[in-house]
Amino acid sequence: MTAVVNADTPRVDIDLGRLAVNWRIVRGRYTGAELGAVVKCDAYGLGLDPVVTTLSAQGCGQYWTLDFDEARRVRVLAPAAEIFVLGGLRGASPQAFRDSRLIPVLNAPDEIDRARDSGALTVAIALDTGLGRLGLRPEAVRDLAARRLDGLRVRAWITQPASFSAPEGPGSQDLYDRFLALVAPLPRAACSLAISASVFARPEHHLDMARVGSALYGVDTTPERALPLRPVARLDAPVLQVADLPAGAGIGYDGQFRCPKPMRVATLGIGYAHGLPYALMNRGAVRFGAYAAPIVGGISMGLTSVDVTGLPADLAVPGARAEIFGDHQRVEDLAAQAGLPANVLLGLAAAVCRKRYHAHRPDQPLSPSLSESLP
Ligand SMILES: *Cc1c(COP(=O)(O)O)cnc(C)c1O
Repeated sequence: MTAVVNADTPRVDIDLGRLAVNWRIVRGRYTGAELGAVVKCDAYGLGLDPVVTTLSAQGCGQYWTLDFDEARRVRVLAPAAEIFVLGGLRGASPQAFRDSRLIPVLNAPDEIDRARDSGALTVAIALDTGLGRLGLRPEAVRDLAARRLDGLRVRAWITQPASFSAPEGPGSQDLYDRFLALVAPLPRAACSLAISASVFARPEHHLDMARVGSALYGVDTTPERALPLRPVARLDAPVLQVADLPAGAGIGYDGQFRCPKPMRVATLGIGYAHGLPYALMNRGAVRFGAYAAPIVGGISMGLTSVDVTGLPADLAVPGARAEIFGDHQRVEDLAAQAGLPANVLLGLAAAVCRKRYHAHRPDQPLSPSLSESLP
């Protein structure tokens, strides 16, 4: 298939300078011993290669990946790094993990047996403290204390907090206490509980090792949006057409919107096929500079209409670009209008839209592109 490079497509600009700044901010806040970057799912859609290269240049030496194949890609980019594989032994033999020096996060008793029976292997072991997802249930953890882990070098005990948006919420002390109680009888290894939001919360809960994803990508997972992070990604889309519509005119299928008064409406070349949530029908807005242009009508596959009545006439013109999220509108806020976590909107848009990478001083606005990538 030939990729058609067209200036009239939605575009995600990724500022690697800001990724580096966010890494330094997180590193400045984290009081534990080891800080690792979560780069699962192609670095939350932003692109594994540029993200790992940038973070490694900042001194990051620990990565958390989704599966064996992704970990192998990180191994090539960061030959000396310590690489954890959240999906455990799925998809490859224990010997393959050993050969590539990858550390599987074991999530179940039978997986632990399989690892142990294969001979000496460095592993991490996940404990379920309330997500009901992957990881050993408390009964299995208590069994483990008595079982043989012979030959396994446990590098870390990890648990995923059941509430990632409220690291100081009512359950946080309880989670911390339960996790420490579970690991107390187990062989000593690094304890890892902290994720993005935890790094900015109570230092006494930081423990030995943090696994940070969202914060590095500029996504604030707390409801207050108070974290001192820089947006890393900006999504914009071209204005294809501007029309003056009379009162009563319909916009979108089946009269999804009807103009209550004469309106100037811009049609943007972006839709749900580019990750814009369908739930934004008649909800939320895009930005032209600091000006908001509300979404009117539905989100089509490749088109979306916005109300530009009253905006300075030279802003919303064919060929101009509307910011969907970025510096003027945070991805968290637009995602919230659609009832979504920011990572869903950011990850989907970044996965399907053309990406451009920028590397420059972090306090400057986005500069002309240094490189481009097509998904
Ligand atoms: C995704 C993930 C993280 C990172 O969470 P953020 O809130 O994005 O920092 C940490 N640990 C595990 C096990 C994860 O799956």
